[in-house]
Amino acid sequence: MIELHDKYFKPFISEGEILQAIKKVADEVAADYRDETPIFIGVLNGSFMFVADFLKAYQHPCEISFVRLSSYQGLTSTGIVETLLDVPDNIDGRSVIILEDIIDTGRTVKKLIDLFSKTKVKEFRIATLFYKDEVYNGEYDIDYFGMKIPDKFIVGYGLDYKELGRNLREVYQLNIKHMINLVLFGKPGAGKGTQAAFLKEKYNLKHISTGDVFRYNIKNGTELGVLAKSYIDQGELVPDEVTIKMLQDEVEKNPEASGFIFDGFPRTTAQAKALDQFLVSKNMKIDATIALEANDEVLIQRLLERGKISGRSDDQDEDKIRNRFEEYNEKTAPLKDYYEEQGKFHSVNGIGSIEDITSRLTKVIEEI
Ligand code: AMP
Repeated sequence: MIELHDKYFKPFISEGEILQAIKKVADEVAADYRDETPIFIGVLNGSFMFVADFLKAYQHPCEISFVRLSSYQGLTSTGIVETLLDVPDNIDGRSVIILEDIIDTGRTVKKLIDLFSKTKVKEFRIATLFYKDEVYNGEYDIDYFGMKIPDKFIVGYGLDYKELGRNLREVYQLNIKHMINLVLFGKPGAGKGTQAAFLKEKYNLKHISTGDVFRYNIKNGTELGVLAKSYIDQGELVPDEVTIKMLQDEVEKNPEASGFIFDGFPRTTAQAKALDQFLVSKNMKIDATIALEANDEVLIQRLLERGKISGRSDDQDEDKIRNRFEEYNEKTAPLKDYYEEQGKFHSVNGIGSIEDITSRLTKVIEEI
């Protein structure tokens, strides 16, 4: 395992396999072009290793040049491909063969085709060492490839993660830590907080309760607390922008966590979408959403009891409690469909002893 910046990578493709794949490309290109003098054009930065080893394997007349494009930032493609070094001069009438280290979505290919369509080359071919055929958009048929690979983030042999790893002789893949990320779902009083306290111990997870974070801020009189208080006191939801930002900050504060329990978040479809997007950017995902089900009358009694002890303003007044249920029915309940569509929704009976409910939840988690 190697470490580059904040991520770990494990061996994926050996030096021998890489050289074999390069020989395959070189032999196939030679079969088509050995009788002329093609111009090979490497796509910088990533292809420099491939170009060097390709040329060692291609011992026929040829010329070599480079273009320089950039599209990756970190782990996800930005989608914007910039030209940093343009097409060489004097290639009109020549056979051009692009040498790419990797082809994934095809955005770079599109850019290359745009660039070369402005020239008068005789023939235009694309050869790539690695080919992620499952994600390639297929607009242009790839002429030569060394090996097909699955859609994994890789480094080494010219490929980088934030500029590190290009000099590795082998290819490594991102080691995705096995995380469990859960959403606990359910009306106020359903027992999310109580159950989260058990689950976080059992599975070594970080518990984030947005309600708790708001109350902490209210207690400390922060700007966020002052803003949130006006909504919370009325049993209304705090606006999405505020809550989403706060949640993201809480996740960012715990880079070492082996997973999260999200309790009280998401509560709207916009929050659920923002959470998914945010997790993707961190190479994470929700594994399961578990709803604790209980009927309103049971919940109202529980909340009023809790209010006597906790002093929470929103737990002491039946009208405010009913307002929170209305907010739930209107804004949060539709999330059931959102997670069901992703095959991630599970429902658990939330009435019974605390231990019984914990074991119902555990059963769902063990089956993820
Ligand atoms: P809770 O402790 O989860 O019952 O949350 C208490 C109150 O905090 C809620 O009634 C809302 O006013 C606010 N709150 C907590 N989580 C969220 C959220 N995800 N979106 C909007 N408001 C929230």
